[in-house]
Amino acid sequence: MRGMRTSENERLFHAARALLPGGVSSPVRAFGSVGGTPRFLVKGRGSRVWDADGNEYVDYVGSWGPLILGHAHPEVVRAVQETAAQGLSFGAPHPLEVALAEAVRRVYPVLERLRFVNSGTEATMSALRVARGFTGRDHVLKFRGNYHGHADGLLVEAGSGALTFGRPSSAGVPEAYAGLTLVGSYNDPEALEAVFAHHGENIAAVIFEPVVGNAGVIPPKPEFLAALRRLTREYGALLIADEVMTGFRLAPGGATERYGLEPDLVTLGKILGGGLPAAAYGGRAEVMAQVAPEGPVYQAGTLSGNPLAMAAGLATLQALEREPGIYDRLEAYGARLQAGLAEVLTAAGVPHTINRVGSMLTVFFTEGPVGGFEAASKTDTAAFRRFFHALLEGGVYWPPSAYEAAFVSAAHGDEDLERTLAAARRAFA
Ligand code: PMP
Repeated sequence: MRGMRTSENERLFHAARALLPGGVSSPVRAFGSVGGTPRFLVKGRGSRVWDADGNEYVDYVGSWGPLILGHAHPEVVRAVQETAAQGLSFGAPHPLEVALAEAVRRVYPVLERLRFVNSGTEATMSALRVARGFTGRDHVLKFRGNYHGHADGLLVEAGSGALTFGRPSSAGVPEAYAGLTLVGSYNDPEALEAVFAHHGENIAAVIFEPVVGNAGVIPPKPEFLAALRRLTREYGALLIADEVMTGFRLAPGGATERYGLEPDLVTLGKILGGGLPAAAYGGRAEVMAQVAPEGPVYQAGTLSGNPLAMAAGLATLQALEREPGIYDRLEAYGARLQAGLAEVLTAAGVPHTINRVGSMLTVFFTEGPVGGFEAASKTDTAAFRRFFHALLEGGVYWPPSAYEAAFVSAAHGDEDLERTLAAARRAFA
């Protein structure tokens, strides 16, 4: 596929840049860290996507996680079409909200009650508000390298050391606000102990990614998970598992099921909306009783629980429920992809560590092991760029950043794997 035609993508990107910051509606899409022209994707079927020039790719982005069934799954598309024909939005309760909430509860018993919102950002932001309302405390703890959306209080990261008061990682976030966010070190139970010893009485909630996907894939250490639960209970803080990425992906009941977690609150998104904007936060009934109109914590949304998003999410969860073997297939493809890429990189003498949990995978271009944010940040970004562009040229759409997870869908199969490995071989030939 060398010399692939991209003139229409280039024309569109030129026009887009004049109107949209970076030419995009969300930063990573701009190919800023890998260079080159972003592809304007106009069609998807199963594991494949097509760009505005008609080039076809094996897709490992899957809209950044939602498309666990692959693109344009017939049942999901039909559900959306049938629902749309009845009207797009009412701003009133809808039967599909009840159906989707019930489907969520079947696989996530910890979500005794939940509230639908439109994005993962809203879900985490609202979950923290509820935790603050419930506990009457102001501080929250997050971990360096974990991403929970772009709400002000969550766009903070640590300086050096195990813990600092959060500093904004974006202009426009007031220091005073970021100062209410403590930042800890992921996978470090001793550091966590120290944070709680100093600040435990003031911490309303700890929010964490149960498998990190946003610094590349980093699996959790069991001791870390255990310490999170023990210390939050001991100090009366709520534990919020941010499963926006892992929910319904790592098991029907996400990381909560896979690792036997007992969070007080869970945030969901991505797969929950089946490719349309839907997310949710929920958990213990007494905590969710804080939410308006039942309780004093206000949170609302014009399009929340939108019937189209509920329909897409419900059709997706029903397909997963009907065919539990999907999770074995995701695991099997993920394992073959991991082994195949490792073989290619080893043969080429390229230092690498491939972290994978189920259908989430990251190739770190470093010896590893990669068990935390520090190690992840050692990845050789130049090697990643080479890998990324060889894949793109070879008809494989890999996430355009060294610190993202690649997502496998139920639609990926043998031909996809062959094409992926052939392209990877050319990267370091
Ligand atoms: N939490 C996690 C763990 C995420 O991965 C993301 C998005 N990648 C978010 C929250 C934010 O979700 P959204 O982009 O829908 O606002």
